[in-house]
Amino acid sequence: MFKRIIYLILIAIIGLAAVVLFNTFRFSGKIPVRQSLPLTGISDSAALHLSSAIQIKTVSFGDTLPVDTVEFRKFKAFLETTYPTVHQKLQRQVFSEFSYVFTWKGKDTTLKPYVIMGHMDVVPVEPVAEKNWLVPSFSGMIKDDTIWGRGAVDDKASVIAILEAAEQLLKENFQPERTIYLCFGHDEEIAGKRGAAKISAWFKEQKIEPELVVDEGGQVDTEHFKELKRPVAVIGVGEKGYVNIDLTVEKPGGHSSMPQQETAIDILNKAIMHIREHQIPANIPAPIQELFTRIGPGGSFINRMALSNQWLFKGMLIAQLEKTKETNALIHTTLVPTIVKAGIKDNVIPSVAKATFNSRILPGESSDDVVNFVIKAINDERVTVKKQTISLMEPSAMTSSDHPMFKRMEDITYKTVPAAIVSPYLMIGATDSRYFRPFSSAVLNFAPMTDAKGFHGINERIPISDLKRMVFYYRLMMTEK
Ligand SMILES: [Zn+2]
Repeated sequence: MFKRIIYLILIAIIGLAAVVLFNTFRFSGKIPVRQSLPLTGISDSAALHLSSAIQIKTVSFGDTLPVDTVEFRKFKAFLETTYPTVHQKLQRQVFSEFSYVFTWKGKDTTLKPYVIMGHMDVVPVEPVAEKNWLVPSFSGMIKDDTIWGRGAVDDKASVIAILEAAEQLLKENFQPERTIYLCFGHDEEIAGKRGAAKISAWFKEQKIEPELVVDEGGQVDTEHFKELKRPVAVIGVGEKGYVNIDLTVEKPGGHSSMPQQETAIDILNKAIMHIREHQIPANIPAPIQELFTRIGPGGSFINRMALSNQWLFKGMLIAQLEKTKETNALIHTTLVPTIVKAGIKDNVIPSVAKATFNSRILPGESSDDVVNFVIKAINDERVTVKKQTISLMEPSAMTSSDHPMFKRMEDITYKTVPAAIVSPYLMIGATDSRYFRPFSSAVLNFAPMTDAKGFHGINERIPISDLKRMVFYYRLMMTEK
C-alpha cells in the first residue's frame, strides 16, 4: 500500500514536470523582426523649435491657482509664428483661452475622424531641485545631441512633433483621407478640466465620435526587458481609475497635559496602518497578460517556464512583480495616504483627525470595491469612510489589440522603431485622453521616445534622434483610411 502511494506520487510529479516542460518549450522561439523605414519627414529645425517651446514657462501650478496668462500667451504667439501654414490652412478653435483644436478636413467626411493630442503645460521645477539640474531647467539647451529642459519629454516633444508633421504635410498640399483634429490642452498636469474636458464636451455636443484618439503615454523601453536585447514599444490601451478616499475621526479633545488613552489621531493612525498592512489582491490585467505573451518567448528558460505555466507559478510571478513599485502598480489597485491633517496647537488634543488616501483602480474593479476594502481593513466604526466624487474616475474601457486602429498603430510603430517588439499596455497614470474614452472607438497612448528621462523630475531631456522618430505622427496622418 505504502509503495503504491509513493509510486502514484512519482507518476504525478513526472506528469507535472512533463506538462511544465512541454508548455515551456512550446512558449519559445524567435520573435519576428519587422522591417522599419528610414526616418524622413521631420525637419532639422524641429529641435530648435522644441528648444524654444521649452523656454516658455507654461507651468501648471495647481488646480485652484490662476493660469500664468503671460507665458501661455507667449506660447500661443510662438505656435502662430512657428507653424504659419497650420494656422493659415486649418481652422483653430480656442477653449478656455489657451487650449486649441485644429480641424483638418479629410477627403471623405463620412469616415470617423482621428484625434491626435498633446498638452502644452508642464509641471513646475521645485526651487530646491534646480541645483540638481545639469542645465538650467527652462533653458531648452541643446547639448550632446539632446534637448534639455522641463517639458522636453512631457509633453512638448509630442506637441512640436505633431505640429512639425502637420506643417510639413500642409506645405505639400496633402489632404488626409479622414478628418484629423489636432488637440492641445493647457492644463493636463492639473487634471485637464479647462482644456481636454471642455474639448471632449464639444466633440460630444457635435456628436463626433473619433475612430482613433492618440495621446501621450506608452513609450519605447530598452531598460526593463534587457534579456530580449530588443526595444519593447508599449502602447497604452486603457487607464487605471482614480479615486480619493477620506477618513475622518471625531473625538472630543482636551488639554495635552491630561491625554486620554486614545485620541482622534491615535484612532486615525491605527486605521492608516491597517489599510497599509495589506494590498487589495493582485490581478494581472489583460494588456499585461498580452505583454507577457508577446515578449515571453524571447525570455530566459525560467521566465518562459513561469509565464507559460501560470496555472502553477502565478503566485511566484505575482511575488516577482510585487518587488518593484512600477510592476506592483500594474497588478494592484493601489492605495496610499497622501494627506493627513489634525491639530492646530501644540498643547491642544485635536477633536478631528482626517486623512486622504489616493487610489488607482485596476480595470475590472471599481471605486466601491476600494471603499469596501478600506472599511473592512479598518474595522472600526469610529472612522468615517467617504469617497470623493469630484475627481472620481472609474477604470477606463480597454481598446482591444484586435482593433484595426491598434493594428495600424502597431504597424506604424514597427516602421518607426527598428527591431521593436510592440505590445499593448495598461496606463497607470491618467492623461487628457481619458475624457475621450467613453465615446471613441479606440484610444491609444503612445509616443516613440526611448527610455524617457526626467519627466516630472530632474534633467528632463530628449535625444534629437528620438524627436526625429516622432515622424511617427507624420506616418499616422498619411495612412490611408
Ligand atoms: Zn503629460
